[in-house]
Amino acid sequence: MKDSNFLKEHNARSLWHPMTHPADSLANPPTIVTGAQGVRITDIDGHEVVDGVGGLWNVNLGFSCQPVKDAITAQMDRLPYYSIFRGTSNDAVIQLAEELRDFFAPDGLTRAFFTSGGSDSVETALRLARQYHKIRGEAGRVKFLSLKKGYHGTHFGAASVNGNANFRTAYEPLLAGCHQIPAPYAYRNPFNETDPERLAQFCLAALEDEIAFQGAGTIAAFIMEPILGAGGVIPPHESFMPGVREICSKHGILLIADEVITAFGRTGSWSGCRHWGVRPDMSCTAKAITNGYFPFGAVMIAEEVAQTFEKDESGRAAIGHGYTYSGHPVGAAAALACLSETIRLNVPVNAAARGAQMHKGLLALQERHAVIGDVRGGHGLMCALELVGNRATKAPIDKRAIGKVQEVAYEAGAMVRVSGPNIILSPPLVLDAADVDTILSALDAGLATVE
Ligand code: PLP
Repeated sequence: MKDSNFLKEHNARSLWHPMTHPADSLANPPTIVTGAQGVRITDIDGHEVVDGVGGLWNVNLGFSCQPVKDAITAQMDRLPYYSIFRGTSNDAVIQLAEELRDFFAPDGLTRAFFTSGGSDSVETALRLARQYHKIRGEAGRVKFLSLKKGYHGTHFGAASVNGNANFRTAYEPLLAGCHQIPAPYAYRNPFNETDPERLAQFCLAALEDEIAFQGAGTIAAFIMEPILGAGGVIPPHESFMPGVREICSKHGILLIADEVITAFGRTGSWSGCRHWGVRPDMSCTAKAITNGYFPFGAVMIAEEVAQTFEKDESGRAAIGHGYTYSGHPVGAAAALACLSETIRLNVPVNAAARGAQMHKGLLALQERHAVIGDVRGGHGLMCALELVGNRATKAPIDKRAIGKVQEVAYEAGAMVRVSGPNIILSPPLVLDAADVDTILSALDAGLATVE
């Protein structure tokens, strides 16, 4: 392998990174990751740290999950690719659809449409939602509602339902008819409400209000993450998602759960919807479905929606949508192995226990570091610290200071992720108590640099 300086120099001159200013790679060269084992990654300088990011919220089972690696290799040898467009299928994808049907049965989801990742899954769900209404003779239902601070990906459809200007402004105009309502974000919200339950009621009222303003008959779907992830880990009050379900059902609006992060154990439940006791009409998955080892995703579809398509006699139900890699046999084999490992290891139990430990540890850090404005978590292994320049005024923190926290935490033994003013933690779900302590003490060291 070339040395560190050579790689960093060539990285800067020939590679653009997602979600990064192109000039940034020169000013702040990236860490060159050369290996990973268990829940740790190693860089080109031989520094080994606990991965507090879990790849990108996706390496739930860690980096050494041999059954998944074996399944990928075996499927590569047997059938490395064939499409499942009309006329062909393969045994791996059929078995996966059946097993996902069992896995998601408590969520009421019984059909799978396969994709190559999270943005693809969101795009698919939005398109199927419009088609569903057209099949039923309600062609006017074309709009989408979502939450401010929600993140749904980068395709034009997904970006149009995103609730953060950073992912929208440079690419506008986006899809017409997409509107966002306030998120149940207790630390900052337009209602100045800090009580989570009352805040949930305000946000639900805002949803009702927006539906009335737009006209219920114009809205195809409401899309939300059961716990907002990239927007800064925002868990709503337990009444919120059931309230959204009720409002959507009342107005004939489909509820799309974006479970790209929350499915497969991250919240301490098998899925984010089950965490809140809600049955969605469609659910978008990706990321941990293959433990990050292969780009793959699935939209799971509720029985009633599926029946609407399958029983249609109008000719409007043919699906004019799909990807070359929909149902990729290697992705399907990887997903089958992941599902089986996720169930065998009962990962939500560890996610809940280690998540509780991490949340408690972060609250203790807040007592020691005035720079921590808000601590969010308490639902499995999704936690965030919102850093501020001034706790009393909640003034934003200087960007360089938060970069420094990350850098020092890395030197002290943990990779953590910075997103805006937030430090986000989403480690593999198989880490142990000592790994959580390593992340917490590394953060402690990082935070001490900004006092
Ligand atoms: N939806 C959610 C909730 C996500 O967190 C993400 C990515 O982080 C996406 C969709 C987009 O997924 P991808 O990056 O695989 O396209």
